[in-house]
Amino acid sequence: MKIVVILGAPGSGKGTVAARLVKSLPLRHVSTGDLLRAAAKNADTPLARAVAETMRKGELVSDEIVGGLVVEQLSKPGPGCEYFLLDGYPRNEKQAAFLEAKLAEGGQKVAKAVWLEVPQDVLIGRLSGRRTCPQCGAGFHVETMRPKVEGKCDNCGGALVQRPDDAPENVANRLKVYEAKTASLLGWYEGRGVLARVNGVGDADAVAEAVAKAIVE
Ligand code: AMP
Repeated sequence: MKIVVILGAPGSGKGTVAARLVKSLPLRHVSTGDLLRAAAKNADTPLARAVAETMRKGELVSDEIVGGLVVEQLSKPGPGCEYFLLDGYPRNEKQAAFLEAKLAEGGQKVAKAVWLEVPQDVLIGRLSGRRTCPQCGAGFHVETMRPKVEGKCDNCGGALVQRPDDAPENVANRLKVYEAKTASLLGWYEGRGVLARVNGVGDADAVAEAVAKAIVE
């Protein structure tokens, strides 16, 4: 199984692209943001509350917690899947080194790191208009990706909400955290010869197609 990571700032479309890729490729999609949101929602413990608060502010959850979740997922490859797509992980060089070491234990490595390039003004517009289904995680946008029925998820009918970390007061911090901690991963994967850059602006289907091409080539 090929391990692929998808990199990009918050709002670059990683989740939107991944939702399309699972339909066109034999691929298992694992989003650490989705896993953490589910963990924070399902457990009413001090730890779950602390994780939810960290996420609301757009700060990074501890490397140990997220690393544990990822290792657990890597042990469940998914029947018939040829690709394992990690979305939202790694988010700093410590996580990238941890992932590299864990994969090396099984004689594996990251086969491709796809970077979705999107300018900052587009990111801010996307994040502030984003609406999410808390039931199934599907993403929509108030202007550019409207649901068929206002306020309702196309997939499961769940009531759409604005994620707390998409509120305007948290968006700027998330972009800052990305620049400070995650952006250097482009150099990390470029240095390992596995980085593919994809223009993340434009029609979502076309972007997903370009990402699929980068993954399989
Ligand atoms: P996302 O859905 O990828 O935008 O992630 C939402 C939030 O979950 C982030 O702002 C972080 O608080 C947390 N998170 C997701 N992935 C990671 C990670 N790899 N390391 C630390 N925190 C993460």
